[in-house]
Amino acid sequence: MKIRVWITLVITVLLVCLSSYGFCSGTDQLKRKDFPVLLMYHDIKEAEINGFDVSVKDFSQQMDWLAANNYKTLSMHEFVECLTQNTPFPKKSVLITFDDGYDGITRYAVPELRKRGMNATFFIIKDRIGTKLTDYSYLTEQQIKELSKDPLFSIQAHTLTHADLTKISAEQLQDEVAGSKKFFTELTGTQCETIAFPYGFYNKSVLNAVEKADYKASFAVSDLGLYDHEAKFSIPRIYMGSIMGKNNMKLFKRSVLNYKNIPKEAFVERFGPLQ
Ligand SMILES: [Zn+2]
Repeated sequence: MKIRVWITLVITVLLVCLSSYGFCSGTDQLKRKDFPVLLMYHDIKEAEINGFDVSVKDFSQQMDWLAANNYKTLSMHEFVECLTQNTPFPKKSVLITFDDGYDGITRYAVPELRKRGMNATFFIIKDRIGTKLTDYSYLTEQQIKELSKDPLFSIQAHTLTHADLTKISAEQLQDEVAGSKKFFTELTGTQCETIAFPYGFYNKSVLNAVEKADYKASFAVSDLGLYDHEAKFSIPRIYMGSIMGKNNMKLFKRSVLNYKNIPKEAFVERFGPLQ
Protein backbone atom coordinates (compact mmCIF):
# COMPACT_ATOMS: atom_id res chain seq x y z
CA MET A 1 0.00 0.00 0.00
CA LYS A 2 2.77 2.39 0.97
CA ILE A 3 4.57 1.80 -2.33
CA ARG A 4 1.38 2.55 -4.26
CA VAL A 5 0.95 5.85 -2.42
CA TRP A 6 4.53 6.77 -3.22
CA ILE A 7 4.17 5.87 -6.88
CA THR A 8 0.97 7.94 -7.14
CA LEU A 9 2.68 10.86 -5.43
CA VAL A 10 5.72 10.72 -7.73
CA ILE A 11 3.54 10.48 -10.86
CA THR A 12 1.41 13.43 -9.68
CA VAL A 13 4.47 15.59 -9.00
CA LEU A 14 5.93 14.68 -12.41
CA LEU A 15 2.70 15.53 -14.21
CA VAL A 16 2.40 18.87 -12.41
CA CYS A 17 6.04 19.72 -13.26
CA LEU A 18 5.59 18.77 -16.92
CA SER A 19 2.36 20.70 -17.38
CA SER A 20 3.71 23.82 -15.69
CA TYR A 21 6.71 23.64 -17.99
CA GLY A 22 4.60 24.03 -21.15
CA PHE A 23 5.24 26.97 -23.43
CA CYS A 24 2.09 28.89 -22.66
CA SER A 25 -1.36 28.37 -21.30
CA GLY A 26 -3.33 29.89 -24.19
CA THR A 27 -5.31 27.41 -26.23
CA ASP A 28 -4.70 29.05 -29.60
CA GLN A 29 -0.96 29.44 -29.17
CA LEU A 30 1.72 26.92 -29.97
CA LYS A 31 3.16 24.86 -27.16
CA ARG A 32 6.53 23.17 -27.12
CA LYS A 33 4.97 19.85 -28.08
CA ASP A 34 3.72 21.49 -31.30
CA PHE A 35 7.19 22.47 -32.49
CA PRO A 36 9.45 20.20 -34.51
CA VAL A 37 12.74 19.02 -33.01
CA LEU A 38 15.16 21.96 -33.04
CA LEU A 39 18.89 21.36 -33.19
CA MET A 40 21.53 24.06 -32.68
CA TYR A 41 25.02 23.48 -34.04
CA HIS A 42 27.97 25.85 -34.16
CA ASP A 43 31.09 24.71 -36.04
CA ILE A 44 31.72 21.36 -37.72
CA LYS A 45 35.39 20.44 -37.65
CA GLU A 46 37.63 17.56 -38.70
CA ALA A 47 38.16 17.07 -34.96
CA GLU A 48 36.53 19.07 -32.14
CA ILE A 49 38.55 21.84 -30.46
CA ASN A 50 35.91 23.31 -28.14
CA GLY A 51 32.73 22.00 -26.58
CA PHE A 52 30.51 23.62 -29.18
CA ASP A 53 32.23 21.87 -32.10
CA VAL A 54 30.91 18.65 -33.64
CA SER A 55 33.28 16.47 -35.66
CA VAL A 56 32.35 15.81 -39.27
CA LYS A 57 32.27 12.07 -38.48
CA ASP A 58 29.73 12.58 -35.68
CA PHE A 59 27.69 15.02 -37.77
CA SER A 60 27.54 12.57 -40.66
CA GLN A 61 26.37 9.78 -38.32
CA GLN A 62 23.71 12.05 -36.85
CA MET A 63 22.37 12.98 -40.30
CA ASP A 64 22.38 9.30 -41.31
CA TRP A 65 20.31 8.46 -38.24
CA LEU A 66 17.76 11.21 -39.02
CA ALA A 67 17.47 9.97 -42.62
CA ALA A 68 17.21 6.30 -41.60
CA ASN A 69 14.47 7.18 -39.12
CA ASN A 70 12.47 9.15 -41.71
CA TYR A 71 12.86 12.60 -40.16
CA LYS A 72 11.96 15.44 -42.50
CA THR A 73 14.28 18.43 -42.31
CA LEU A 74 12.36 21.69 -42.61
CA SER A 75 13.50 24.75 -44.49
CA MET A 76 13.14 28.00 -42.56
CA HIS A 77 10.55 29.01 -45.12
CA GLU A 78 8.42 25.92 -44.33
CA PHE A 79 8.90 26.50 -40.61
CA VAL A 80 7.74 30.13 -40.81
CA GLU A 81 4.83 29.18 -43.05
CA CYS A 82 3.53 26.67 -40.51
CA LEU A 83 3.90 29.31 -37.79
CA THR A 84 2.15 32.10 -39.63
CA GLN A 85 -0.62 29.97 -41.10
CA ASN A 86 -1.05 28.13 -37.82
CA THR A 87 -0.84 24.75 -39.54
CA PRO A 88 0.70 21.74 -37.78
CA PHE A 89 4.34 20.93 -38.43
CA PRO A 90 4.88 17.68 -40.33
CA LYS A 91 5.21 14.64 -38.08
CA LYS A 92 8.83 13.68 -37.30
CA SER A 93 10.20 16.98 -38.56
CA VAL A 94 13.40 18.65 -37.48
CA LEU A 95 14.84 22.14 -37.92
CA ILE A 96 18.64 22.04 -38.19
CA THR A 97 20.28 25.36 -37.29
CA PHE A 98 23.86 26.61 -37.09
CA ASP A 99 24.84 29.72 -35.12
CA ASP A 100 27.66 32.23 -35.75
CA GLY A 101 28.53 31.33 -39.38
CA TYR A 102 31.83 29.44 -39.12
CA ASP A 103 33.48 28.17 -42.28
CA GLY A 104 33.02 24.55 -41.15
CA ILE A 105 29.55 25.06 -42.60
CA THR A 106 30.75 25.15 -46.22
CA ARG A 107 33.74 22.93 -45.59
CA TYR A 108 31.97 20.03 -43.87
CA ALA A 109 28.26 20.53 -43.07
CA VAL A 110 26.97 21.64 -46.46
CA PRO A 111 28.45 18.68 -48.42
CA GLU A 112 26.93 16.25 -45.86
CA LEU A 113 23.55 18.01 -46.01
CA ARG A 114 23.52 18.22 -49.82
CA LYS A 115 24.37 14.51 -50.14
CA ARG A 116 21.17 13.72 -48.23
CA GLY A 117 19.03 16.58 -49.59
CA MET A 118 18.66 18.01 -46.08
CA ASN A 119 17.64 21.57 -45.17
CA ALA A 120 19.45 23.81 -42.71
CA THR A 121 19.38 27.40 -41.45
CA PHE A 122 22.47 29.50 -40.77
CA PHE A 123 22.30 32.36 -38.25
CA ILE A 124 25.08 34.80 -39.16
CA ILE A 125 26.78 37.61 -37.21
CA LYS A 126 27.13 40.59 -39.54
CA ASP A 127 30.39 42.00 -38.14
CA ARG A 128 32.18 38.63 -38.12
CA ILE A 129 31.67 37.95 -41.83
CA GLY A 130 35.02 37.16 -43.50
CA THR A 131 37.01 37.44 -40.26
CA LYS A 132 39.10 34.95 -38.31
CA LEU A 133 39.47 34.45 -34.58
CA THR A 134 42.11 31.94 -33.38
CA ASP A 135 41.01 28.51 -34.67
CA TYR A 136 37.73 29.78 -36.12
CA SER A 137 37.17 31.38 -39.52
CA TYR A 138 33.85 32.90 -40.48
CA LEU A 139 32.09 32.57 -43.82
CA THR A 140 32.77 35.30 -46.36
CA GLU A 141 30.06 37.47 -47.89
CA GLN A 142 30.44 35.58 -51.18
CA GLN A 143 29.98 32.20 -49.47
CA ILE A 144 26.88 33.47 -47.65
CA LYS A 145 25.37 34.79 -50.89
CA GLU A 146 26.01 31.44 -52.60
CA LEU A 147 24.43 29.49 -49.74
CA SER A 148 21.38 31.73 -49.84
CA LYS A 149 20.76 30.75 -53.49
CA ASP A 150 20.46 27.05 -52.61
CA PRO A 151 16.84 26.22 -51.75
CA LEU A 152 18.06 23.74 -49.11
CA PHE A 153 19.54 26.54 -47.05
CA SER A 154 18.47 29.76 -45.40
CA ILE A 155 20.49 32.71 -44.09
CA GLN A 156 19.04 34.39 -41.00
CA ALA A 157 20.14 37.00 -38.44
CA HIS A 158 22.35 36.46 -35.39
CA THR A 159 22.66 40.23 -34.77
CA LEU A 160 25.33 42.70 -35.88
CA THR A 161 28.00 42.17 -33.20
CA HIS A 162 26.89 39.17 -31.09
CA ALA A 163 26.30 41.42 -28.08
CA ASP A 164 24.34 40.07 -25.12
CA LEU A 165 21.03 41.73 -26.03
CA THR A 166 19.94 41.93 -22.40
CA LYS A 167 22.89 44.17 -21.47
CA ILE A 168 22.85 46.95 -24.08
CA SER A 169 21.02 50.27 -24.41
CA ALA A 170 17.59 50.53 -26.05
CA GLU A 171 19.17 52.22 -29.05
CA GLN A 172 21.82 49.52 -29.48
CA LEU A 173 19.17 46.83 -29.08
CA GLN A 174 17.17 48.40 -31.88
CA ASP A 175 20.31 48.45 -34.11
CA GLU A 176 21.26 44.85 -33.36
CA VAL A 177 17.76 43.51 -34.00
CA ALA A 178 16.31 45.70 -36.77
CA GLY A 179 19.72 46.49 -38.30
CA SER A 180 20.65 42.83 -38.82
CA LYS A 181 17.24 42.08 -40.35
CA LYS A 182 17.80 44.85 -42.89
CA PHE A 183 21.39 43.80 -43.58
CA PHE A 184 20.65 40.11 -44.25
CA THR A 185 17.55 40.90 -46.29
CA GLU A 186 19.67 43.13 -48.55
CA LEU A 187 22.64 40.73 -48.68
CA THR A 188 20.61 37.70 -49.74
CA GLY A 189 17.78 39.42 -51.59
CA THR A 190 15.37 37.33 -49.48
CA GLN A 191 13.34 38.56 -46.54
CA CYS A 192 15.16 37.77 -43.27
CA GLU A 193 12.34 36.60 -41.00
CA THR A 194 13.99 35.10 -37.92
CA ILE A 195 16.77 35.86 -35.45
CA ALA A 196 18.78 33.78 -32.97
CA PHE A 197 19.79 35.44 -29.68
CA PRO A 198 23.53 35.53 -28.90
CA TYR A 199 24.22 33.16 -25.97
CA GLY A 200 20.48 32.40 -26.05
CA PHE A 201 19.91 35.40 -23.76
CA TYR A 202 16.70 37.44 -23.89
CA ASN A 203 14.31 39.38 -21.70
CA LYS A 204 11.10 41.32 -22.19
CA SER A 205 12.81 44.28 -23.95
CA VAL A 206 14.51 41.91 -26.38
CA LEU A 207 11.24 40.18 -27.27
CA ASN A 208 9.53 43.58 -27.66
CA ALA A 209 12.29 44.69 -30.05
CA VAL A 210 11.98 41.46 -32.07
CA GLU A 211 8.22 41.85 -32.48
CA LYS A 212 8.56 45.52 -33.31
CA ALA A 213 11.09 44.69 -36.05
CA ASP A 214 8.48 42.34 -37.51
CA TYR A 215 10.40 39.09 -37.13
CA LYS A 216 8.17 36.04 -37.49
CA ALA A 217 10.05 33.99 -34.86
CA SER A 218 13.17 34.08 -32.71
CA PHE A 219 15.37 31.37 -31.26
CA ALA A 220 16.94 30.90 -27.85
CA VAL A 221 18.82 28.00 -26.25
CA SER A 222 17.25 27.35 -22.85
CA ASP A 223 13.69 28.23 -21.97
CA LEU A 224 14.11 31.47 -19.97
CA GLY A 225 10.40 32.30 -19.92
CA LEU A 226 7.85 33.83 -22.28
CA TYR A 227 7.72 37.42 -20.93
CA ASP A 228 4.10 37.77 -22.12
CA HIS A 229 5.04 36.95 -25.70
CA GLU A 230 3.98 34.05 -27.88
CA ALA A 231 6.11 30.90 -27.67
CA LYS A 232 7.43 31.46 -31.20
CA PHE A 233 9.54 34.38 -29.95
CA SER A 234 11.70 32.33 -27.56
CA ILE A 235 12.02 28.88 -29.08
CA PRO A 236 14.56 26.69 -27.25
CA ARG A 237 16.97 24.51 -29.22
CA ILE A 238 19.02 21.46 -28.31
CA TYR A 239 22.70 22.37 -27.94
CA MET A 240 24.67 20.03 -30.18
CA GLY A 241 28.36 19.80 -29.38
CA SER A 242 30.97 17.58 -27.82
CA ILE A 243 30.12 19.40 -24.57
CA MET A 244 27.00 17.21 -24.49
CA GLY A 245 29.16 14.18 -23.68
CA LYS A 246 31.25 11.45 -25.16
CA ASN A 247 28.69 8.96 -26.43
CA ASN A 248 27.61 11.12 -29.32
CA MET A 249 24.97 8.90 -30.91
CA LYS A 250 23.35 7.82 -27.65
CA LEU A 251 22.97 11.45 -26.57
CA PHE A 252 21.84 12.54 -30.00
CA LYS A 253 19.09 9.91 -30.19
CA ARG A 254 17.96 10.66 -26.64
CA SER A 255 17.75 14.40 -27.39
CA VAL A 256 15.79 13.93 -30.61
CA LEU A 257 13.44 11.25 -29.30
CA ASN A 258 12.75 13.03 -26.01
CA TYR A 259 12.37 16.56 -27.40
CA LYS A 260 8.60 16.50 -27.21
CA ASN A 261 8.66 15.07 -23.70
CA ILE A 262 10.28 18.25 -22.49
CA PRO A 263 13.53 17.06 -20.95
CA LYS A 264 14.73 20.31 -19.44
CA GLU A 265 18.24 18.87 -19.16
CA ALA A 266 18.38 18.56 -22.97
CA PHE A 267 18.49 22.33 -23.24
CA VAL A 268 21.92 22.69 -21.79
CA GLU A 269 22.77 26.31 -21.29
CA ARG A 270 26.45 26.36 -22.10
CA PHE A 271 28.59 28.61 -24.19
CA GLY A 272 32.19 28.59 -25.26
CA PRO A 273 34.65 31.49 -25.42
CA LEU A 274 33.94 32.41 -29.02
CA GLN A 275 30.18 32.38 -29.20
ZN1 LIG B 1 26.25 32.79 -31.27
